[in-house]
Amino acid sequence: MSLSEITARIAKAEAEHGRSPGSVTLIAVSKVQPLDRVQAVLDQGHRVFGENYVQEAQGKWPAFRDSYGAVQVHMIGPLQTNKAKVAVDLFDAIHTVDRPSLAQKLASLAQSRGTCPQLFVQVNTGAEPQKAGVLPDDLDTFLTDCAKLDLPIHGLMCIPPESEDAAPHFAMLAKMAKDHGLSGLSMGMSSDFESAIAHGATHIRVGSAIFGARDYSSR
Ligand SMILES: *Cc1c(COP(=O)(O)O)cnc(C)c1O
Repeated sequence: MSLSEITARIAKAEAEHGRSPGSVTLIAVSKVQPLDRVQAVLDQGHRVFGENYVQEAQGKWPAFRDSYGAVQVHMIGPLQTNKAKVAVDLFDAIHTVDRPSLAQKLASLAQSRGTCPQLFVQVNTGAEPQKAGVLPDDLDTFLTDCAKLDLPIHGLMCIPPESEDAAPHFAMLAKMAKDHGLSGLSMGMSSDFESAIAHGATHIRVGSAIFGARDYSSR
């Protein structure tokens, strides 16, 4: 697939599900992709990308920003607390706020800098033991703690279990966001972004459908 096919599918899904045109932000997930593929998407004018690893992003985006100007880069992978400082300097958004220690660190960085990337709390909607994210039952307390820290939370993010229909997870995340008055919804990947848009996604994270399969052996 190509970037233009994906953007056409997004526009169609927006129209079909009563979403206003342009209400869904496409995050092109460029982790592990060869630089020439990323450059091709930049050359087509796309300016919003997603990365999973701080170090990989550090090696790529300062140089691309020098050549292409402002590019939004979203952190969508697990974030270690000791990389939080580098992350707030590098990323425009962090989708994986998932524990009190990280929230505290981000809050203190935000205080001293006077700015903060846009933040999403990752919710483990499937309550999978191996997966990061706040458990649905703990979300209320976690968001209250973030508010006490003066940490601005823009929305919620989820990665549904691989073996399940994603739609109920998207619906659950949308309801939790609504209940907490949060407007951002980061959900939907290559295989299910249209369903995510139907359920109210504001940010979809699409990698392989734009760039092709990832080759982890080349890392
Ligand atoms: C890699 C990744 C994606 C992109 O997945 P594709 O299936 O390639 O679209 C989206 N979200 C997260 C959190 C990821 O780690």
